[in-house]
Amino acid sequence: MARRYYYPGDEAGVLERVRNRVFRKPVPDFPKTIVIETQFGCNASCVFCQYSQLRDKLPKGRMSVALFEKIAGECAGRPVERFILCLDNEPLLDTTLAEKYALLRQHCPLAVRNLTTNASLLTAANVDELIGAGLVNELFLSVNGASREVYEKLMGLPYDKVMGNLEYLCTWLRQHPDVRRTLRVRVNAVRTRLVEPELPAMARRWEAEGFEMHVIGMDSRGNQLDMKNLPGERMKPNATCRRLFHTMVLTWEGHAVLCCVDYRRAVKLGNVQEQTVYEIWNGSWATLLRKEYLAKDFSHLPICATCKIN
Ligand code: SF4
Repeated sequence: MARRYYYPGDEAGVLERVRNRVFRKPVPDFPKTIVIETQFGCNASCVFCQYSQLRDKLPKGRMSVALFEKIAGECAGRPVERFILCLDNEPLLDTTLAEKYALLRQHCPLAVRNLTTNASLLTAANVDELIGAGLVNELFLSVNGASREVYEKLMGLPYDKVMGNLEYLCTWLRQHPDVRRTLRVRVNAVRTRLVEPELPAMARRWEAEGFEMHVIGMDSRGNQLDMKNLPGERMKPNATCRRLFHTMVLTWEGHAVLCCVDYRRAVKLGNVQEQTVYEIWNGSWATLLRKEYLAKDFSHLPICATCKIN
C-alpha cells in the first residue's frame, strides 16, 4: 500500500507527528515526476480517454524549444526521477521531440527519460533517432488488445500498422542487445471490460519479448469522461490519489495543471513562462490545494470530489 503524504508542522499533536513519521511521507519540495505535453494532439481515439471529447475545444500548439530548455534547466541538480513527455498528445507527432529529449539528457542526466507512445508513428527512423541514440531510456507502449477487433474498438488506430511497427521494434531490439540492456520497455493497457479477457494473451506475447506488461486502472478523468462507449464499467471513488503530491503536469502553453486528468485545465497552479518550477510547486496556491485534499475539503478541487477509478 502506497504511503500517504503529509506536511511537516501541520500536525495537531504528538500522536499525529509520530504516525506521520512512521507511516507517511512528507510532501517533497520538488516534483519527483514531471509530465510535459510538448505539443497538443493525438492521432488515436481511445474510448477511455477524454481527448476525442476535447479535440476541437482546447487551444492547439507546440511548446517552444526555448521554454522546454527553461524547464529542463530549472530541474538540473534537482531530485526529479522521471520526465514523461506525454499528456493529451501522441509525443511522436512533435518533430522537435529529439531536441527536447537531448536537453533533458544534458541538464538532468540521471533522470529517466520516458517515451509513452501508441507506437503508430514508431518508425525505423524514430527508433534510430530516439532509442538508438540513447535519448529515450524508458519506453512505455500503449497497447489495448490482442485481437484486431478489441484493439481497434478501444484505440481507433490501424491494427496492422501498429503491430508492424512493434514487430520492427522487437527485431531491432534483438539486434541491439547493448541498447536493450539499458532500455526499460513496458506495455501499458488500461483496464476495461473489453480488454480484460485479452490480458493473458497480451502478457504472453509481450513478456516473451522481455517487456513488462502493466495494467492501469481506468479513471473517470475527474468524472469528465463520456462513458457511453464503456458500458458496464464498475467505478469507485478515487479516494487515495497521490498524483498532486509527486507529479507536476505541464501543458504545451506552460500551464501547470492539477493532474494529468484535468483535461479542461480547470485547476491551474501557475505557468512556467512566468514562474519557476520550484515557485509553482511550493507556491501558496499549490500548497493550499494539497492541504485541502488531505483534509478531504474539495471546495477548490471539484474534479477530485467526483473522480472515480475502476
Ligand atoms: S482529479 Fe484529483 S483525484 Fe482525480 S486523478 Fe486528478 S488529482 Fe487525483
